[in-house]
Amino acid sequence: MLILDTFNHISTNLAALLMINQLQPPLPNTCKSPQYWGDSFKFVSKMINSSFLGKTGKVELDKFGRRSNFDLEVIQYKLGVRVLEGLWTHDEGLFQARQLHVKDNVLKEVSHDTEKDNLIVATILSAPYAMKSQTSSNQNGTRYEGYAMDLIAEVAKLVGFKYSLLIVDEYGAKDANGNWSGIIGEVVSGGADLAIADLTINSEREKVVDFSMPFLDLGISILFTSDTSKSINLFSFMTPLSPMVWGMMLVSGLAVSLVLFLIAKISPFETAELDTEEGESPFMSLRHCLWFSVASWVQQGCDFLPRAFSTRIIASFWWFFTLIMISSYTANLAAFLTIERMESPISSVQDLARSDIKYGSIQSGSTLGFFRDSSDPFYKKMFNKMTQCDDCLTESNGKGIDKVMQESGQYAFFMESVTIEYHIERNCKLSKIGENLDSKSYGIAMKKGSVLRQYITSAIIKLRQEGVLDRLKKKWWKEERGGGSCEEEEQSSDGVSTLSLKNLGGIFLVLLLGLIMGLVVVGLEILWVNCKKKNFLI
Ligand code: GLU
Repeated sequence: MLILDTFNHISTNLAALLMINQLQPPLPNTCKSPQYWGDSFKFVSKMINSSFLGKTGKVELDKFGRRSNFDLEVIQYKLGVRVLEGLWTHDEGLFQARQLHVKDNVLKEVSHDTEKDNLIVATILSAPYAMKSQTSSNQNGTRYEGYAMDLIAEVAKLVGFKYSLLIVDEYGAKDANGNWSGIIGEVVSGGADLAIADLTINSEREKVVDFSMPFLDLGISILFTSDTSKSINLFSFMTPLSPMVWGMMLVSGLAVSLVLFLIAKISPFETAELDTEEGESPFMSLRHCLWFSVASWVQQGCDFLPRAFSTRIIASFWWFFTLIMISSYTANLAAFLTIERMESPISSVQDLARSDIKYGSIQSGSTLGFFRDSSDPFYKKMFNKMTQCDDCLTESNGKGIDKVMQESGQYAFFMESVTIEYHIERNCKLSKIGENLDSKSYGIAMKKGSVLRQYITSAIIKLRQEGVLDRLKKKWWKEERGGGSCEEEEQSSDGVSTLSLKNLGGIFLVLLLGLIMGLVVVGLEILWVNCKKKNFLI
């Protein structure tokens, strides 16, 4: 650019002098007899002591032809972003970027208000980004804390501005007249210089405000809780097989006993050896046949076995049948009992759309905007369902979470994944369902064309590089306000969910039933024998 300005200046002056015929061309020159160009003085005096607007700004040349009265910008490229590190002015020397805000002209540019000595930063009360402080409040009123509060403090320190907070209660959506509400509306109208919150960068907003470099990455996901009290089943040991299969097994056992009994009655081999070494075949009695079926069914066996080929064939097939049934049951039982605790009626957005469960999101946020503006008819349909429902849309994430908890299992809330992560760390009944629907980021918003953008972006790059952003995330997600409590619960069982009486109570009831039946039957047996003794019965 400097060379271009130089050549432009030379050619313009040359052309101007030639136009008025004030320049004679120089005489031919040889090395042996050098000739001076008589009009060179005229040409040089036209070039010096002049000013013009060049590609490098206003160019002023003094009487020695040196450039004077210029400013220099100190630029550095950080991660491909052009960042203004400082400014050198002819009168005042070098300023670093962080001092620039004190220069009236920059502050004027930022705030469009000469009387302002600090910036207005808009935010939204939403955990864990900005929350009322639990510990202390200063004399001026409430103190706020959270990820966004720590981040803006760090950015302000690096860039070098002072700020005061403006609490807004909506994120921002565009109405039919194209006016923006909430935090975005504040920035657009100049009510706030900056906005920091869980504020999603999207193309619609990018048209009216500028965003800094992103500080958190996320996607839309589903927050849900399934009513575990309803799903806990004392007889869950029955679930690996369907009621139909249980019924068929019972019928098969009875059928096998009956067939064994009948064959034993007619088979010559079952009866042939009857009087020889082994005595009467136990299969001649139906109750022994039943006992054989039951004993084989539970893989125990009994002290008598079939003797004839026919009965042995039946017994072999019955054993094979029970072997397969018991193996399938055992394999399925372990899986059923372990997943029961985390069982949820939905596992994806498709399941949710198919189910009767109601769903919603924040009414003035980018999540609803995602469904509204989606080109996928599936999401469009979900948007229509959400907006047609009377109470599915909420004012804030907090209200959405309350609704999920109150309507346990009947309402799912579309929320941003990082915010879901925060809540499921603390409320173990909540869970995140399925994959993220999209991927996007949070950024700091400011007025379109604001000079602050480059300072804030460079500050965020620096904070990211130095690990400050990761530290803040760990602090607010894992450490503060009960972070990690659900993780502790899970770890206490080494990742394997313990089976409680709620899952296995039924099997104890079955045992109790067996004991009671045994006692009742022994009573009946005694009665039977006594009656027989007294010849009441033949
Ligand atoms: N982050 C969203 C926004 O900037 C708000 C939350 C949401 O819509 O889920 O609009």
